[in-house]
Amino acid sequence: MNGKSVLIIYTGGTIGMMKDPETDRLKPFDFEQINKQVPELNRFAHRIDTASFGKPIDSSNMGPSTWIELANIIQENYDNYDGFVILHGSDTMAYTASALSFMLQNLSKPIVLTGSQLPIGTIRTDGKENLITAIEIACASNNNYPIVPEVVIYFEYQLYRGNRTTKTNTEHFNAFESYNYPKLAQAGIEIKYNYKYLRSVKSIVQKPLIVHTNMNSNVGVLKLFPGINKKQIMHFLDTPDLVAVVLETFGSGNAPSHQWFRETLQYGVEKGIVFTNVSQCQAGSVKQGKYETSSAFDDFGVLSGRDMTTEATVTKLMHLFGKYDDVETIKQKFSEPICGEITL
Ligand code: ASP
Repeated sequence: MNGKSVLIIYTGGTIGMMKDPETDRLKPFDFEQINKQVPELNRFAHRIDTASFGKPIDSSNMGPSTWIELANIIQENYDNYDGFVILHGSDTMAYTASALSFMLQNLSKPIVLTGSQLPIGTIRTDGKENLITAIEIACASNNNYPIVPEVVIYFEYQLYRGNRTTKTNTEHFNAFESYNYPKLAQAGIEIKYNYKYLRSVKSIVQKPLIVHTNMNSNVGVLKLFPGINKKQIMHFLDTPDLVAVVLETFGSGNAPSHQWFRETLQYGVEKGIVFTNVSQCQAGSVKQGKYETSSAFDDFGVLSGRDMTTEATVTKLMHLFGKYDDVETIKQKFSEPICGEITL
């Protein structure tokens, strides 16, 4: 086996949880116990170091400040490791993977997020396989170039591009899907990489990593539903400091064609809010203008999120509003791919 080096960053999540005997609820435990639970880690020829993330958290408590903490840990250790594995709760893993993909510009090393549905100390845990294969992937190389130089999620034998992934199942071990982008690898007896769809490292390997830690979290998601009314939307748009709204629309990007709905858009646009349009459907792309019921979006300059996930759209907006002051630049950058999150 080739001797690579990998840093495991433990943030919390079910993989490192145990039952509190008093409350019978799952809560995070000390990272040291992960090493005890997975003695296989000692059998790798790779150097495996660990870093614990402040206080381990359930991923429902993740957000811009914790993404920044993670990005800083990666930056501080970037030159010392060939790859990184982030142990993370599955609930918001797709948001963290998306956020990191935008924050880590010129990334040329693997950042593999994984976790588990069952705690690693339980007999039927899915955590061991997830962790061990995630380490393999973080260390995998071809002619000394990393095979996976991007932010990815590994879960239940599947490797996904992080910013294309959504958590789709609360019960199955196979908890994630990437509907609009092919899987990057499948793990069986061998790990079969889908080279055609992986980011190419050769173009970026010479460039230095740039870490963007400014995130503007004044972004909102508004899911439309039949029966939604003007008062609800106006109230939402009156949220102080709101800079952008991700509209989760019907089908290929449609919304009510009522006059009152147009008035809400007009109100928001006049306040300077940037609107984006992503579909409530998990697969396929927004096609603004295809139906009459999406014409208001074109009239008010709503940006099509095309086939982006909500997770990628929200974190892309946070990143762009953190990076640029000029709204026209933000709008232009929103519509372009930053790191493979959107199909043009
Ligand atoms: N609630 C947990 C979390 O996201 C679930 C998991 O770890 O998968 O942190």
